[in-house]
Order: sequence, then C-alpha cells, then structure tokens
Amino acid sequence: RNDSADVVIVGAGAAGLMAAARAANRGRRVVLLEKNNKPGAKILMSGGTRCNLTHATDRRTLADAFPREQARFLRSPLAALGPEELVEYFHAAGLSTKVAETGKVFPTSDRALDVQLTLLKLLKESGAQLALGEAVSTIERTDQHFTVATSKRTLQTPQVILATGGQSYPGCGTTGDGYVWAKHLGHSIVPPRPALVPLKTSEDWLHELSGLTMPDVTVSAFETNQPKPLARDRGSLLFTHFGLSGPAAMNVSRAITATPKNHLPRVELDLLPDVTEEQLVQELKQLSGKRVVRGYLAERLPTRLADALLQVAQVPLDRQAAEFGKKERAAIVRSIKHLSLATHGTLGFVKAEVTAGGVALDEVDSRDMQSKCCEGLYLIGEVLDIDGPIGGYNFQAAFSTGWLAGERV
Ligand code: FAD
Repeated sequence: RNDSADVVIVGAGAAGLMAAARAANRGRRVVLLEKNNKPGAKILMSGGTRCNLTHATDRRTLADAFPREQARFLRSPLAALGPEELVEYFHAAGLSTKVAETGKVFPTSDRALDVQLTLLKLLKESGAQLALGEAVSTIERTDQHFTVATSKRTLQTPQVILATGGQSYPGCGTTGDGYVWAKHLGHSIVPPRPALVPLKTSEDWLHELSGLTMPDVTVSAFETNQPKPLARDRGSLLFTHFGLSGPAAMNVSRAITATPKNHLPRVELDLLPDVTEEQLVQELKQLSGKRVVRGYLAERLPTRLADALLQVAQVPLDRQAAEFGKKERAAIVRSIKHLSLATHGTLGFVKAEVTAGGVALDEVDSRDMQSKCCEGLYLIGEVLDIDGPIGGYNFQAAFSTGWLAGERV
C-alpha cells in the first residue's frame, strides 16, 4: 500500500507524541509510526511507574544540569517549551502534577499511565494519525521526498521526524534503529553507551549489604592516580547483590561507560557527607574508654554497614575506645569518608535508563531541530547525543525538542 503525509514521525515515545500533536494542531497531516502495540512504553515504566515528567526549576538551571555542549543545544528547545510551560500544558489537558522535595515533578495520581493517557488524548484531539505495531524498516531520500517503508506500507513525505530514542532498555523497542538511518542520511553518530545505569563492583563484602538504602551519600568516580573526580553526585544510594544502584551511583555511570574497559575508574563513597573528617576524628577521640566503637558507628550508620566498615578498616568488632590507636581511628574515618571500591563496569544497555551518545548535536539546528545534513529531516529526543541526570531532565529534553520540531515542520 502507498500513502503520503506532510510529516512522518518515527517513534511514539515522549518526543514523538509531543511533536505529532503540535504539528497536527498546526494543520499538518501527520502520521506517527510506532513499532510497539502501545505508545510510550518508557513513559509507563518511568520513575518506578510514577513518571517523573520534568524538574521544577527554571529553564536555564534545567539546561545546566546537562553536559555543557548539550546545555547549549537545549537552550532553544527549552525557550520554546520550558519546564513551567510543560507543566501548564499538562494542567490544561487535565493532568494535575505535584513537586517532590527533590524537585521532581510527578502526576498527582502517581500513575505514569495518566501521563501516557493525557498525551494520547491530546494526540487524538490534534488529528494526528497514530499507527501502532508498524515498524519502520528503511528511510530513503529522493530529490524532494522521503520514502519511508514500514512493515505494512510505503509512505511518501517531504518531512521526517526521527524520534526513535536511544538503545537502552531494548525490550521497549529502542534498539538504535534511528542511528542507522541518520547515518545513512549523512549524520555522524557519537558512539552510544549506557548511562544512568547501576554499577558493578568487585568487593564481595559489599554485595552482602544487598537491599540497604542510604538516603544521602556522595559517590565519586576517579581515574587511577587522579585527585580530581571524573564525576560526582550526592543523593540516595542502594547496595545491591552486584554493586551499587540508586540515583547517586547511576548519575556517575556515564563517566564510567566513557572509560576504556581496561582503565575502569574507581568509585569512592562518602557515607556521611554532612560530617567532616575532623569532626569524626574528634568524636572518636572523645568516646569514653569502655565504649565499643561499633556501638558509636551504629548510631550514625545502619548496623550492617557499620560492621562492614569496621572489617574494611580491619578493626575488630568488639574494639573498645580505650584500646584504640591513631591508625585505627584514621582507618575507620577513611572507610566512612573515602570508601574506595573497584568498578568492573555497569549493567549495560539492558538496565540503562538512557543512552549517552547518538546523533551529533553540531549537525542539527537547535532553532528548529532540522538536520544540517539532510533537508526535511528532523531529530528529537534521545536519538540525539543528549543524556541528562535523573530527575525528570530526560523527559523534559524529549518534550522540548519534540515540541519545537512540531512547531517548525
Ligand atoms: P523513547 O521514549 O525511547 O521512544 C522511542 C520510540 O521509538 C519507542 O516507542 C520505540 O518503540 C520507537 N521506535 C524505535 N525504533 C522504531 C522503528 N524502527 N519503527 C517504529 N518505531 C520505533 N526520564 C525522566 O525524565 N524521568 C523518569 O522518571 C525516567 N524514568 C525512566 C525509567 C526507565 C526504566 C527508563 C528505561 C528510562 C527512564 N527515563 C526517565 C528516560 C526516558 O524514558 C527517556 O529519556 C525518554 O523516554 C526518551 O524519549 P524519546 O521519545 O526520545 O524516546
């Protein structure tokens, strides 16, 4: 079967859904193609099925949460649709939102499904055609037109928006298809790698802490013998049977996946970031002689962790303060403030919340999201070399770039 459209959008994730509704509202004949039988698979599973759809901050601060080149690129899409406008957009469509203490914005219902349903309602009202279970196999450019071949038909269109996402969580349909077409149409692809992904560590004793969550830890990734960290983040940390998860660990993972496998960085934990080393030394010095050090540590840290740290510091669990030397004190403080762990990689694309790398940003005009290499081609969302931290930043980038492309096609 042969069809045509003013705009063909490939991928019905956050970016594609937003672009489709915006373009159709402007009178464009839009066909939105999605290989899955349901749209927005990642919206549904995001934020622990609560969908952290953006971050409550101004557009400048939001952009600055991304690596520098990405922040510069995002300025124009965020000027078109910033976090406040995005929230207003959802409110106007009947979805109320709330802001968590961390600044993360969620639907008041705590149901990611409501975000997906709202986007689908807006899509329907716009008149865009959504074709589910229709995977795109090739995109070819001929003189004035693109020929988009799917599992069911061939479409002729003067404009294509690529919104295929990255290649993390490939079970969601994101298998990196967009990179192949972008490359074919003249783009360079910054090698994709997992980001926002849990870290694997080598220490067996750590794995025994599996299930333990610490609400406030600083995680730093260091290259061997380098004093300055490659990446640092402070927040919640989860010990797992393979290593470290939770926002603080996942936020430093892009630095780890950027490093060659034979030079993997070391990870260092500061388990009490609000207490200085000097304070800890003083407190340990002032313990009364009969006090068992383990008891003191257990007041500050979960017992399981306190015991593990004493083992790392090679201090017997029943050590009393009176028997305690300068060396042991320093070893304990080091284990709390500079707990050094060897990483041996991450859980990879299968468990990465986003993909770092993708279509090179300097080949896309951030004023309209159009390719500088191929007229009529637009690129939005995670298929681009964009990856932000945990906190709603990635959806905001997808929605903003999607909105801007929908506004300009
Ligand atoms: P996607 O949402 O990945 O959509 C791309 C779509 O393209 C998919 O539906 C895919 O099936 C389709 N597609 C691909 N190839 C083809 C093809 N050949 N033919 C047709 N269709 C195709 N970000 C946040 O900001 N907040 C969160 O709370 C959050 N939680 C997350 C939790 C998890 C577990 C994961 C995996 C990610 C999370 N993210 C979160 C990241 C966020 O989901 C992504 O950054 C965002 O979905 C990117 O949007 P996108 O539209 O660019 O791509």
